[in-house]
Amino acid sequence: MLSAGSAAAQRPIRGFSPAAARAELELEDRLSAALSRDSTGAFFQYLTAHPHPAGTVRNKELAEYVAERLRQYGWEDVRLIKYDVLLPWPVRVKVTMVAPTRYEASLIEDRYPVDKDTDQDPGPTYLGMSASGDVTGELIYASSGNPADYEWLKSKGIDPAGKIALVRYSNPYSYRGFKALTAERYGVKAMLIYSDPKEDGSTRGATFPDGPWGPESHIQRGAITYDFIVPGDPLTPGWASLDGARRITEAEARSAPRIIAVPMSYRDARPLLEALGGPETPAEWHGALPITYRAGPGPATVHVDVQMDGKTRSIWDVEARITGAVEPEKTVILGNHRDAWVFGAVDPSSGTATQLELARVLGGLLKAGHRPRRTIILADWDAEEWHLTGSTEWGEQFAPELSKNAVAYLNVDGSTSGPHFGASAVASLNPLVVETARDVADPAGGSVLEAWAAKTWNGAMRADTLSLVENKLGSGSDYTVFLNFLGIPIVDMAFDGPYGVYHSVYDDYYWMTHFGDPGFRYMTTMSDLWGRMALRLANAPVVPIDYRQTALRLQQFVDEFEKLPGVTKQLNLNPLRGAVGGLSSAAGSIGAAAAAAADGGDSAAIARVNTRLVAAERQWLLKDGIPGRPWFKHALYAPKSTYAAMELPGVREAIDEKDWPRARRETVRLVERVKAVTAALTP
Ligand SMILES: [Zn+2]
Repeated sequence: MLSAGSAAAQRPIRGFSPAAARAELELEDRLSAALSRDSTGAFFQYLTAHPHPAGTVRNKELAEYVAERLRQYGWEDVRLIKYDVLLPWPVRVKVTMVAPTRYEASLIEDRYPVDKDTDQDPGPTYLGMSASGDVTGELIYASSGNPADYEWLKSKGIDPAGKIALVRYSNPYSYRGFKALTAERYGVKAMLIYSDPKEDGSTRGATFPDGPWGPESHIQRGAITYDFIVPGDPLTPGWASLDGARRITEAEARSAPRIIAVPMSYRDARPLLEALGGPETPAEWHGALPITYRAGPGPATVHVDVQMDGKTRSIWDVEARITGAVEPEKTVILGNHRDAWVFGAVDPSSGTATQLELARVLGGLLKAGHRPRRTIILADWDAEEWHLTGSTEWGEQFAPELSKNAVAYLNVDGSTSGPHFGASAVASLNPLVVETARDVADPAGGSVLEAWAAKTWNGAMRADTLSLVENKLGSGSDYTVFLNFLGIPIVDMAFDGPYGVYHSVYDDYYWMTHFGDPGFRYMTTMSDLWGRMALRLANAPVVPIDYRQTALRLQQFVDEFEKLPGVTKQLNLNPLRGAVGGLSSAAGSIGAAAAAAADGGDSAAIARVNTRLVAAERQWLLKDGIPGRPWFKHALYAPKSTYAAMELPGVREAIDEKDWPRARRETVRLVERVKAVTAALTP
C-alpha cells in the first residue's frame, strides 16, 4: 500500500487544504493497512455458502448476520427495515417440444464433483416476473429479440404474433426485460432466452470448471421487470411498500410484464434450434453451435407452461451509520445488494464481502477515535435482482431527508469478477474517483489509476485521466433511485474480467477462488477504494463536487446531439448552448471559491460553498419527470429500455421519435434546469 509522509504531502486532495490532506492520507493509510484479505475471504465464504435469493429464509439470516457484524464493529443505529413487495415464485416451469419430435428441456445445470456446491439444490430455474400461462405454438428464432430482429422476420413473411420466440442473451449486454417487452409488443405468446456459446461460453475460452466461461448447461436467471419504466415494487410505484401502504393491482402495474418467459442453457436450446425450418438467418444471427440457424416458423412446436404464485413477500434492508462529528445531518451513503439468484459469488457477494470488510475497518477507526466530519450510512439492499427493490423502496421512504442532506451515494454491486477497474459517475465526481484511484495500490503493481489507464489506453498514459470515468449512466443497479429519483450524485464501481457464469449456479465460491479473484486481492482493493472515497466525502471540509466537469460533459452531450438527423433543421440549440455557457462560468467561479474555502477559509465560507454544491445537483430534477416516465426525473440521464445510457432523455426520446414539437418543449425544460443549477451555484 502507498505510504504517507513526504509523498503524501505532494498529493493534493479535492476539498482539503494541504495540511488537511496530509492528515486525511494518514488516516486512509491506516484504513489500507487494516484491510485483510483473509477476513474478506471469510466473509465471502460465509455469504456464498448457500443460495440466497430475495424472500428466502437464508437471505433473511444473512441480513441478521450483516446486522450482527455491524453492531459488533461499533456501527450505530443498526436496523433491519422490512418491505412487503411483489415477489412471485414459480409453482411450475416446463418447456417441451411436442413436434416434430418430443424433447423436454431439463432446465437443470450439471453437477461437477470438483465443486461440491453444485450438489446443493439451486431451486427452480425461471425468470422473475414472468407471466403465468400454458401455451403451445410454432417456434421462431429471433436472434437478440430486438425490434430490428422481428422486423427482419416480418420482411420474410414470418409474423411473430402467436408464435413462441427463442431469443438469445446478447453481447454487448442488453437487459432481458427489454427483450420481454419487445416480444410482448410483437404479440409473441411466450419467449425462451438462451445463452449461446458465442456470447459467454466455449467460443470465449475454457468453460467451468476448467475456466471462467459458461459450460453447456449453464442458465442465466434474472428478472424481466420493466423497471426502466418505474423501478421498485411494481405495486407501489413512487412510494414505499411499508405496512398499510396503498397498493395498486398487478394488472395496473406498468412495470409488470404480460408475457411468459423462461431461461435456458444452450444444451436445452439446441434441439429446438435444430428442429427449425424456414429461411436461413443472416450471418449476424448465427451463434457458435454447429448447426444452421434457421428462422422457422416450425415445424418445431413448443409447449410452455409457467405457473407463478403471484405472492407478495417480505424483504429486508439493513441500515447502519457512523454519525458525523461536525455535520451529522449530512450523509454519505455506501450501498450494495445482498440477494443473489443462486450463490451469487460475483453478483453480489463479492461486493457484500467488500462492504463488510470495509465496515469492520471503519468501525475500528471509529473505536480509535476517528469519527468523520459527516455521517456515513451503510446500506445492505434486498431484492435488487427483482426490481432494484430494496434500494428503491428505501429511497422513496426517506426521500425528504435524503433530498435535503445526502452528499453522495457510492454503489458497489458485484465488486470483482477480474482485475480490470471501471467506474461510472456523475461528472461532478470525476476528480474524486480519479484522485482516489491514484492513491490506491493495484495488486498487480502501481496504482489502480495506472492500471485503469493502461487497460483503457493500451498501455499509454494520457493527461486527461478524468475522462476515464464513464459519465453516461444507464441503469441495472441500486444507484438508480438516488440519481434518477432524488438527484443525488452517484458513483458505481467494479473490477471486471472474463465472466461467463452470471446468474447461474456456477457463480460460486469455486469460480471466484479459481478464476475471478484467487486470494481476494481485488475484493480487498475495492474496500480500499470505496473506503477512501467515503472518507473523503465525509471528511473534506469542502465537499469534493466539481461542476466544471459537469459543464464540460454537458457541452459534449449537446455537440453529439447536433449530429443527430434533423436536429439542426428542427431545433434551435442556441438557448441551450447559452445556458451551458452560463453554467460553465458559474462552475468556474464556485470551483475557485471552493478551492479558496478549502485552503484556509473560515467555517462560514466553507458552509456557504457546501450548501450551494449540494443543492445544485437536485436542480437537475424535472418536476414531472421525463415524458411518459414521471418517476425518472433527472434531466441529464435516464436508462433506455435496454438499460443502456441515454443522455438528455426528454429531448433525446422526442428526437428519436421525430416528435419535433415535443423535442422543442423538452429543450425548453432542459434549459430551465441548466439555469436552475447555475442559479443554485451562484451566490
Ligand atoms: Zn447484482
